[in-house]
Amino acid sequence: MDTKILDGKKIAQELKTEIKSEVLRLKEKGIVPGLAVIIVGEDSASKIYVKNKKRACEEVGISSEVYELEEKISQEEIIKLITKLNKDETISGILVQLPLPKHIDKEKIILAIDLKKDVDCFHPENIGKIFLGLGQEFFLPCTPAGILEILKRSEIEIIGKDVVIVGRSNIVGKPLALMMINAGATVTVCNSKTKNLKEKCLGADILISAVGHAGLITADMVKQGAAVVDVGMNRNNEGKLVGDVDFSEVSKIASAITPVPGGVGPMTVVELLKNTVKSAKDFADKLS
Ligand code: NAP
Repeated sequence: MDTKILDGKKIAQELKTEIKSEVLRLKEKGIVPGLAVIIVGEDSASKIYVKNKKRACEEVGISSEVYELEEKISQEEIIKLITKLNKDETISGILVQLPLPKHIDKEKIILAIDLKKDVDCFHPENIGKIFLGLGQEFFLPCTPAGILEILKRSEIEIIGKDVVIVGRSNIVGKPLALMMINAGATVTVCNSKTKNLKEKCLGADILISAVGHAGLITADMVKQGAAVVDVGMNRNNEGKLVGDVDFSEVSKIASAITPVPGGVGPMTVVELLKNTVKSAKDFADKLS
């Protein structure tokens, strides 16, 4: 089978060029999109993600501020900082890097972020808009939006397709299911208790795995010609970054497949940039 490799890195680069032009147009109107990133503690993976987000902002001309807070900081102090950033007109988006230390209530932190600056789209009200199918007008959650974009730009039709999503997290699986329903797919969402996972996956025209378990999706679980999207990010025994999908075998069966790295990851960062620029644009529109 002639399998198409869905090159997220390349598509993300194209999108960054478009975003850069948008940022320039805003700057001509005196608006500089700004992203504030809050990171609490010393989680090494989180530090890498934050560094990548900051670098991506610089690439497209978005200004960024990183607040590195110590592990033992109180919830009240984080909320105080968020409240200050909510009022700051130079800040278009606020992102709190997860996970947070155990003594911090993640939900309370998310609720403290101004809806209009919730560029991760974690706030219940923003997620509610996706539930109602209003998402396109507001923010979209970054990883699911990146997945839909990579499919769209690769001309993989969603309408009428059987989509199977493995994983039901609030960050990926659940919002992705809503967005796929809104896009006209017939959706099955699987979790760790799902019976006959293989059988369900075999029914997929588009199979998406967002679990965090290397090698979970094997070739015998994939229908000939299916499109496969691998969200998983895992370290194998050699410390190499791998997805959930057995890429070498599945790519012999799938019509299209995302690699790890270089698939969904770069698209997620680009969607964050898009949301930040959208927030700045909405602010500019209000001024004019
Ligand atoms: P999560 O919150 O841990 O959720 C994992 C989901 O997988 C859960 O719903 C869980 O089911 C399900 N699951 C676990 N084992 C399973 C099994 N054997 N069969 C079927 N389902 C199973 O993880 P997440 O935050 O969604 O992230 C998932 C993966 O995507 C991770 O590797 C993460 O690093 C990666 N990720 C990548 C990006 C990116 O930009 N590339 C962004 C976000 C996440 P239960 O609900 O029943 O426990």
